Amino acid sequence: GDARPSFAALIRAVADFPKPGVLFRDVTPLLADAQGFADCVAALAAPWRDAGVQAVCGIEARGFIFGAVLARALGAGFVPLRKPGKLPPPVLAVDYQLEYGSDRLEARSDAIAPGTRVLLVDDVLATGGTLAAAQALVAHFGGDVVGASVLIELEALRGRERWMGEQPLHALLRY
Ligand code: 5GP
Repeated sequence: GDARPSFAALIRAVADFPKPGVLFRDVTPLLADAQGFADCVAALAAPWRDAGVQAVCGIEARGFIFGAVLARALGAGFVPLRKPGKLPPPVLAVDYQLEYGSDRLEARSDAIAPGTRVLLVDDVLATGGTLAAAQALVAHFGGDVVGASVLIELEALRGRERWMGEQPLHALLRY
């Protein structure tokens, strides 16, 4: 049915963080709970068991945690998509707009071979700018994005509308 998975109770809502008016979803209590974390990873992996995923791309920073364990669960490699200046050169990068200013995602320039079947992973889908940038970066490599999974979708921010193409974008929890 549509019942919430029990690990949902381990996600903490924090008002006015990191700035006034934002209700931040803190996933660290979930990560600290052995059963909750295991259940969450199993749920993230379930739709992709037979999808032929070759690489999981996780977005800095919490996407690294979920993405790396998901890569292991699927027998895929893991590629970190990082904020600027963290990876040694050479890198490929995409710039994207934030509410105020811009940001950038980078990956090692030979991290994804053309045609690689890539799954994108992050903890939270908010405005969708970050995930759309990840999609563009993998496309820049010639990678084949088979879809994305996030733990949480903040529906009011309508990030799903920025997801390009027909590949599935799965969310375990919607707020
Ligand atoms: P977007 O680009 O979709 O607006 O923001 C998504 C990015 O911001 C993700 O990488 C995510 O980790 C982070 N983010 C935005 N809101 C939240 C939140 O409420 N909780 C957590 N844990 N991360 C958030």
